[in-house]
Amino acid sequence: MNADVFLQVLTQALFALIFIIVLVGTIRHPRLANVDASLFFGAIALILAETWLTEAFKLGTGPIWRFIVEVLLMALPYLLLRLVDDFAGVRQEISRAAAIGLAATVVLLAIFHQAHPPRVLLLLLVAYFVILAMYDAIAIVRAAVYSGGVTRRRMQAVAAGTICLGFLIVVAGATAFTPKDAGGLLRGISDVVSLCCVLGYFIGFAPPGWLRHAWQEPELRSFLGRAAELPRLPTTEQIVRELERGAAASLGVRSALIALRDESTGELAPVGEPNPEAPSLDTTARRAFAEQREIFVSNAARENPADVETYLAEGVNSVLAVPITAGEERLGVLAVYAARSPIFAEDDLTLARLLADQAAVILESRALIDEATRVRAREEAARLKDDFLSAAAHDLKTPLTAVIAQAQLLERRARRDPLAPTDVGGLQRIVRESDRLRRLVTELLDVRRVEQGSLIGPRETVDLSELLRESSERLVAPRHTMVVTACEPVAGEFDPIRIAQLVDNLLENAVKYSPEGGEVRAEVRIEDGAAHLTVTDCGIGIPTGDIPHLFERFHRGSNVDDRRFSGMGLGLFICKAIVEQHGGRLWAESDGPGTGSSFHAILPIVMSQTEDIAAIAGAGSVND
Ligand code: ADP
Repeated sequence: MNADVFLQVLTQALFALIFIIVLVGTIRHPRLANVDASLFFGAIALILAETWLTEAFKLGTGPIWRFIVEVLLMALPYLLLRLVDDFAGVRQEISRAAAIGLAATVVLLAIFHQAHPPRVLLLLLVAYFVILAMYDAIAIVRAAVYSGGVTRRRMQAVAAGTICLGFLIVVAGATAFTPKDAGGLLRGISDVVSLCCVLGYFIGFAPPGWLRHAWQEPELRSFLGRAAELPRLPTTEQIVRELERGAAASLGVRSALIALRDESTGELAPVGEPNPEAPSLDTTARRAFAEQREIFVSNAARENPADVETYLAEGVNSVLAVPITAGEERLGVLAVYAARSPIFAEDDLTLARLLADQAAVILESRALIDEATRVRAREEAARLKDDFLSAAAHDLKTPLTAVIAQAQLLERRARRDPLAPTDVGGLQRIVRESDRLRRLVTELLDVRRVEQGSLIGPRETVDLSELLRESSERLVAPRHTMVVTACEPVAGEFDPIRIAQLVDNLLENAVKYSPEGGEVRAEVRIEDGAAHLTVTDCGIGIPTGDIPHLFERFHRGSNVDDRRFSGMGLGLFICKAIVEQHGGRLWAESDGPGTGSSFHAILPIVMSQTEDIAAIAGAGSVND
């Protein structure tokens, strides 16, 4: 067997193999695209069978058989056009013109099949064949360019095969007009191009499993490349949107939709805001989830009349839906919407299944991360509760012990000598420690109110200057110098109890954390239309690392010795809530331990409506 015969036999065998594979696929999945592919390769297989019988085995075939072969040959561009229509869409007029052309060709072949047709008719037949074949080739190349995912690679192979077919047609035409020796060279080239053509079609229409996997791999890898980061996105909705985008890109379709099972109802529900690029959840997606199997619908509008509107709005023709499951657990469904029925639906289904599996892994990881966060939050809450209990117990125990000890002492003395003079100092100590106890309990109750958001009560007009002066006078700090600057009235609408608590707390802290004889400066003024309260001391200062945490619950500075300075670390937490719930801001400044510190509160001055009117009226009367 010489080289060109080998090439021809190989080409013919490959065409026959493609036909068998495509036919088996059609029997298993009788879809229009599969049927059209079977017709196309069936026609080629029959033409080749006839060539074999006549050339290789020198068997003469009858005139009817030859007529059939001629018709099949002329029908090839039309059959290819049907395939083009399946995956890229062909204008109806072109389809109709091609069908009429084919019918006319069959009639002409029938009339002239014993004799030579006139030259003009022959030219017309050739023109019909060549133009239609070229149109197919261009349409397939275009479809290959605009498709995506694995389909794109298969379409590229089909396009390559079709370009070779176009070349063969041109060569066949040229051979008729070339001298004999040049014809031999052209035939050699044609044999090679024929092999390329069949290889292109083989790869496109019947790719071996390993090649499909090799094509799926980069798509999956690019999907997974993005997927690694997905479980850590802030919300499940963002994860789902990314998964949808990834699935649509990998499958080369317009849009994909993921709906998840609602924990409470067990029903399928879209996640977050509806995806603007995808149709709303349709019947196919719901069925795929309910029946837990993948479903492909090539004519979605016919299959699901209830969803016609959404299909029309999004230009959807086919739907492919795959359930997303993790083991036994039904997580949701991945639905892929395409403008045209995918030509290689089995490949797309396989890839969609792989993507759904990956989506399941990602959603599961997310659920695990959420669970871990919940566990951590529970642990943190438990830890805070422990901190709280130990801090509260410790701080309450100290004054309580003092009160009990002092009371027992007084009781013993009274029993021993009922007429002895009253121990005023002892009683004062009991009162002082009880007051401390009361304040600690109040702080604890206030923390609860902060958490419930019910800290601030009714507001009334309060003059902060007056309040600051009163508070500084009330504060018993005989060993400290208190300098108060509060000249002009700073009146605004505040909760009087809470705002007094804020001022008291800042002044008390300034005294508490300053050495004896230290100076505390307090000032209130109006700045940029807001009240600005500042309390500055020259005490122990605040380490830089503590400043950001100073206003957190139970936080005490690392330079604070618990035995020297009593407290639970709740005062500033409450102060911050008071200021913020008045619409203001509270912060601390210090250059570090031993350098003193200052606390600043900015409070918007909100006047009641009646006072606003009075102020405006007052301003008006001045102008008058
Ligand atoms: P407590 O005083 O009961 O610890 P606070 O919430 O009032 O609780 O204060 C929290 C922490 O802020 C204090 O433990 C202390 O470390 C720091 N702090 C507050 N005021 C001052 C101040 N004037 N000077 C230095 N540190 C202060």
